[in-house]
Amino acid sequence: MDTRISGKTRLLGVFGTPIKHSGSPIMYNYCFDYYGLDCAYLAFETDVPDVKDTLAAMRRLDMRGGNVTMPCKQEVARNMDKLSPAAKFIGAVNTIVNDNGVLTGHITDGEGVVRDLLDHGISIKGEDIVLLGAGGAATAIMVQCALDGAKSVTVFNRGEEGLLKAERIGTSMMEDGVDCKMEYHLLEENQLMHDIIRKSGVLINATSVGMKPMNEGVSLVTDVTALHKDLIVYDVIYNPLVTKLMEDAQNQGCKAVIGGKGMLLWQGAAAFELYTGLEMPAEGLKKLLEEREVNPLPVLKDV
Ligand code: NAD
Repeated sequence: MDTRISGKTRLLGVFGTPIKHSGSPIMYNYCFDYYGLDCAYLAFETDVPDVKDTLAAMRRLDMRGGNVTMPCKQEVARNMDKLSPAAKFIGAVNTIVNDNGVLTGHITDGEGVVRDLLDHGISIKGEDIVLLGAGGAATAIMVQCALDGAKSVTVFNRGEEGLLKAERIGTSMMEDGVDCKMEYHLLEENQLMHDIIRKSGVLINATSVGMKPMNEGVSLVTDVTALHKDLIVYDVIYNPLVTKLMEDAQNQGCKAVIGGKGMLLWQGAAAFELYTGLEMPAEGLKKLLEEREVNPLPVLKDV
C-alpha cells in the first residue's frame, strides 16, 4: 500500500454507521494493489444528517466514489445527479461513482446474488423465483432478478407495509416495460407459499430468519417436502454459514444450496467494475477474506 500512495492517489471509501467492522477497505485495497492502481480506500463513520456534506466533500476532494451502507442508502439516493435503473426503482444506493463532479448512484446488492449464482453455474434467466422478504436486501434482489430476465418473482413477506413497498417498486418496473411476472403475498398464506415453491426453480430467503443469534435454527419453509430435487436454494444469511433452511434443502437433495457469503463479494465486484472498468480478482480475494477472518489486522491502539 505505502508504495502505491502518491500525489495523484484517488480516494474511495465506505460511508455508514456503524462502519468500523466493515470488510470493504480490505477488499478494495487488495484489488487496487492487485492491479497496481493508484487508489486508496477507507471507512468513514457517516450518519444520515452527514450525507450532503459527505457528497460535497466527495466532489471537492475529487474522490473516485464510494460505497454506502445503512442508514444512508436512501438519503444518498435522494442526493445523486443520476441513478442507475435499479437504484431508481429501489430508491437506494450502495455505490457512488464520481465522474468529474457528476455523482451517479448504483445499487449492486441484487447483482451480488445474481453473480454469486452465476459463479455457481446458475443463471436466473427464465426462472420462476420465490423470494422471502421485502426489506432492503429482498427488494434489491427482486429488481435485479426482474431486470436480468427472471420469468416470475413471487414475494412473500410478513408485514403489509413492506409488501406494499415491493409492489410499488414492481409496478414502476412494469410501467417501464420490464418483462417479469410479479406477485406479492403475506407469509400468512403459508400453504400458498409452499405450493408455489413446489412449482418454482429458485427459492431465495432474503429475511433475517435463520440468522445468528436471535433467529438461528428457524426456517420459514416449515414443510420441508416443498424443497424438491430441482430447486435451487439461496440464503442471503452468512452467519451462520449454514442456516436451517440450507440444512433442510441439503437433506431434501435440492439441486444447489448456497449461503450468502458470496453475495458480499459479488456486490463488491460489481462496484469495483463501476469504479475501474476492471474485473475483481475474485479467487485471490476469497482466500484473503478467509485468512482475515482467522487473523484480523491489529488496530492502531494495539500496535
Ligand atoms: P431489512 O430489515 O430491510 O429486512 C428484513 C426482512 O426480514 C423483512 O422482510 C422482514 O419482514 C423479514 N423478517 C425479519 N424477521 C422476520 C420473522 N421473524 N419472520 C418473517 N420475516 C421476518 O434487512 P435487510 O438489510 O434486507 O437484511 C435481511 C437479511 O439479509 C439479514 O439477515 C442480513 O444479514 C442479510 N444480508 C446479507 C447480505 C450479504 O451480503 N449476504 C447483504 C445484505 C443483507
